[in-house]
Amino acid sequence: MDQLRPISFETGIAPNATASVLVTFGRTKVICAVTIEEDVPRWMKVQRVEGGWLTAEYSMLPYSTLDRKRRDITAGKLDGRSSEIQRLIGRSLRAAVDLGKIGARTIWVDCDVLQADGGTRTASITGASVALAIAVNKLVAAGKLAESPLKRLVSAVSVGMLEGEALLDLCYVEDKDAEVDMNLVMTDRGEFVEVQGSGEEAVFTADQMNRMLELGRKGLDEIAELQRRVIAEADKPDAGALEDLS
Ligand code: UDP
Repeated sequence: MDQLRPISFETGIAPNATASVLVTFGRTKVICAVTIEEDVPRWMKVQRVEGGWLTAEYSMLPYSTLDRKRRDITAGKLDGRSSEIQRLIGRSLRAAVDLGKIGARTIWVDCDVLQADGGTRTASITGASVALAIAVNKLVAAGKLAESPLKRLVSAVSVGMLEGEALLDLCYVEDKDAEVDMNLVMTDRGEFVEVQGSGEEAVFTADQMNRMLELGRKGLDEIAELQRRVIAEADKPDAGALEDLS
């Protein structure tokens, strides 16, 4: 109940992005790519807002589910679930970076689910947070930024209540039967970035919520440690093609 699924991060899988990570939580797999554009959205120019912006897109590929699903964009319109998830990813990652320190740039975060088995939004945030750190560190190493704009490391995990017990990092079969479904986004300093919790046709108590938070915090400590290791490994001088940024 208190264990994470096996987690891995494979970096550099989409070489045309500034940084990319294939993140795996058990059977859930998401490609997280960060691309830095040397421009800002029009609304920032119109409102004369200094600094840069970060925006996220999320998509579940049609073959990512057991039964093929329709594309989440039909006739140019994104479905409600994907739209909600991409806004959550964007908000979560904007907490990680000081946008006033990235210059007039846009950080594009693309999360594409290759295989969905529960927790795709939390895997997306966790993987994208690693890709974001690697991308921003590349800009600093290339001399494009004087100092690191990273404020903190952001990580996410799901927790829930299943048959009255708190459960960490749910897969789909657990998620579909859970009485309570919660997504936790936190920093490596133990601060909350966002908490999404719902009793699926049920209700839950403060005591149950505290049990889920405790389990989630324990899982997030382990996840943050893995993220830090992957980021440090990717930042070694021979790990990436820094000349691509010059
Ligand atoms: N799912 C699916 N098809 C969908 C939406 C969800 O098969 O259109 C499955 C998928 O395994 C997903 C899980 O249901 O990971 C839980 O979905 P939820 O909306 O709770 O988001 P997630 O847990 O992936 O962040």
